[in-house]
Order: sequence, then C-alpha cells, then structure tokens
Amino acid sequence: MVRTWVFAVVLATATSSSACVDLGGDGDQGHGQEQGQYEGQEHGVDDGTDHGGGDGGGDGGGEYQGEGEGDGEDDVVWPIANTAEPDADEVSSGFGPRDLSGDYDFHAGIDIKLPEGTPIRAIKAGTVEQVTLWDGQSSSGNRVLIDHGGGEKSAYLHLSSISAKLGEAVEPGTVIGRSGSTGANTSHLHLNYMLGLGGAGMDERLAHNPLELLPHAPMPTPVAYFEADRVVVEMVIQPNTVQSLILEGPGPDDVLSLDYADVFALGNPDRDEPVQFGIGLGVERPNPGYYELSLIPMAPAFSPERVRLYDFDGELLLDAHAE
Ligand SMILES: [Zn+2]
Repeated sequence: MVRTWVFAVVLATATSSSACVDLGGDGDQGHGQEQGQYEGQEHGVDDGTDHGGGDGGGDGGGEYQGEGEGDGEDDVVWPIANTAEPDADEVSSGFGPRDLSGDYDFHAGIDIKLPEGTPIRAIKAGTVEQVTLWDGQSSSGNRVLIDHGGGEKSAYLHLSSISAKLGEAVEPGTVIGRSGSTGANTSHLHLNYMLGLGGAGMDERLAHNPLELLPHAPMPTPVAYFEADRVVVEMVIQPNTVQSLILEGPGPDDVLSLDYADVFALGNPDRDEPVQFGIGLGVERPNPGYYELSLIPMAPAFSPERVRLYDFDGELLLDAHAE
C-alpha cells in the first residue's frame, strides 16, 4: 500500500496552527445522543424551513468576517476572548466528521475547552430566545439560544450557570452564562450556529460552521495521500472551513460528492452514520492540532485518483491527484 504525499493547489496561505495543541479527551462523549435528544424535541416546530440550504451561509460568512475585523466596533466576537481577532478561542473539536475516543459522529458545532466557570459571551447581537435548564439527563446541559434575526441563531451548551434572561437583548460580548460540563464529561462550550431557521427553537439540520461567522485565518492547505481503496486527507482542526468534497476514480462514473449541509439535513442520528452518499468516513487524530479524514468510495467502489475539497464559500481548498 503506497502512500503518496501530494501537495496540491493552494488558495489559502498557510498560517500557523500552533494555537491548537488541544487534543483528545474532548469529553464530548455522548454528543450524538445529546444532540439527538434536544434536536428531536425541537424538530416539530421548524416546519417550513429550507433544509436543503447548502449555500445560504457562505456569502454571509464573508461579510461578517470582514465587518468583524479592523474597525473597533465589532459586530461579532469570539465567545470567550470577546474579541474579533481571528481564531481568538481555541477550537478542540471542529465542525463536521470527527472521532472521540473511537466514537465517530458528525459534529453540528464547534467545541472550545474551558475551565469551569469561564464567562460565556454572545457572539453577535440578538435576543435570548430560549433558556433551557438541564434536566439532569439531556447531554446538551444548560443551554442558551440566541436569535440574531433573519433565521440566524446561535446556541451555547453545557453551561454551569445561566445569567441571560429570556427575551433579553444582547450585544456582541454580553455575558450570558458560565462554562461548565452539564450534559458532558468535561467542561467546554459547544457552540451551534444555524442559518435559515423558519420558526421557533433550533434545528441542527440547519447547522452551519460557526466559522462562517467568527473571524478566522485562512485554512492551511490540507494534504492528501492516496491508498488503494481510500484517500486520507490531513487537515487542521482550527481553522477548519471544509464544507464539501468530490472524489473521482479511473472510470467515467467514478464520481462521489458530499456536502456537509446534506449530511446535517438528514437529522440525528442518521447524520452520524459513517457512510454518507456512498462515501465511507473515518477520522483519526494522530498529530496534535490535526485530524486525518479517511474517504472511502463505497457506492460505487473505486480506487480514488483525485480529491477536491471546498470551503463554505465555495472556494477550492485542495485539488490533489494520485501519482
Ligand atoms: Zn460539541
């Protein structure tokens, strides 16, 4: 089995990933059940929303990112650092496929590891739509949901305490509670970001990468290596902006594609199945700050010869060919 390292097309400038040394023991164990539980409760109230929406968020991300940088008045801040500096808080688990202690799932937000009791801040102006106290069972824990208007919402999970009041108007940086581990194994913030919500409550079928909103550096170029039955893509955990991918093999019909939006649209628990749209998915974290995403063409099965990755703005992140 020959592993060929391929350095491919670069659109993003490689930037330091030294800020993300956090690995392992994320403590988000049980996340899948967690999100299934509260997602299930809230599915019913979200009729009429656009579940297909793969692209609505991309453009917005660019705008917000631009606004957030440079001019003193920040429209968006990171929830702990309270600044619009790129990658100001350390992401321990990114958006999309991941593996925690051998337990694969499709993560509907980002995790930021924190000591218990750290102030958690609204990332953008809005209105506190829900304050959900932990029932002792749901693994979402104490949770705050903020409505930013226009179908855009953010949610903050696992809090130890909540200071936000239902209906309260918040600004970027307003403290809404403190970090904790309610519903989780370790203290961390799980941040959800959703676009296109048509009704009350939240719906992870409309999950978007919070980095569509939060200021971040360009994603360093992933590296792909090809094996007989798969291609393995090594990429950073932060900032990770991958949204879709295309695999191609030697035959004219050997083409498989996957968009994260389509996986989330399946809902929980189906999104956590490790085969999606004919592609087997696997995640390993052999190196701090990075993860390896295995992509296995299964229906149809073929030997991958080319892989392309795109971000949520539709920009090409990687175009790699087997040698
Ligand atoms: Zn999480």
